[in-house]
Amino acid sequence: MSNPLIEPTPLDRALSLIADVPDYPKPGILFKDITPLLADGPGFGVVIDEFARAIRGLNRGVDAIVGIESRGFILGGAIAKALEIGFVTVRKPGKLPREVYRKEYALEYGFDALELHKDLLSPSDNVIIVDDVLATGGTALACHDLVGVTGASVVAHLFMLEIEFLQGRKIIHNTHPDVSIISLLKA
Ligand code: AMP
Repeated sequence: MSNPLIEPTPLDRALSLIADVPDYPKPGILFKDITPLLADGPGFGVVIDEFARAIRGLNRGVDAIVGIESRGFILGGAIAKALEIGFVTVRKPGKLPREVYRKEYALEYGFDALELHKDLLSPSDNVIIVDDVLATGGTALACHDLVGVTGASVVAHLFMLEIEFLQGRKIIHNTHPDVSIISLLKA
């Protein structure tokens, strides 16, 4: 429970704008809707500043942000701009026009696949993968695998929100113990 005597920080206030939507898109799923936060200028700004601060705090050279379609694009694009580094899109199947690597994976609610243009990353690149929500970790792991095929290295996974009981952090950590996993909010 929050302490009424402690003033919420601007980051707390921003993250409190994430809306819970019960039974969406399927019964039993509590959907975390970040659109009210994105629509709030100061809130969006503070979240991007916090992501950029966390990345700088890793003290690792980072060449690009990899964003997962579609909310990872909104966050990742803004983070890449803040850090003045490149942004690489990882998309749902059939959206990218040139040669792709493809990885299929299981979702909290269904199955999907991710694709990455083959020529955007090279073995010398260090990247950070960004998405809005960490649930089971399947999406993040699939994206990690795609990046791995190019020979590039994943330094960290960044999320706005982590749904702790689904244990995505543990799944990523078990497969990639040296990778940092950063979330701004645990729910
Ligand atoms: P997962 O692969 O299970 O970790 O799911 C993560 C991906 O699915 C992210 O791209 C999220 O945007 C989306 N997602 C999964 N569960 C939720 C949820 N409860 N609320 C919002 N987005 C979710």
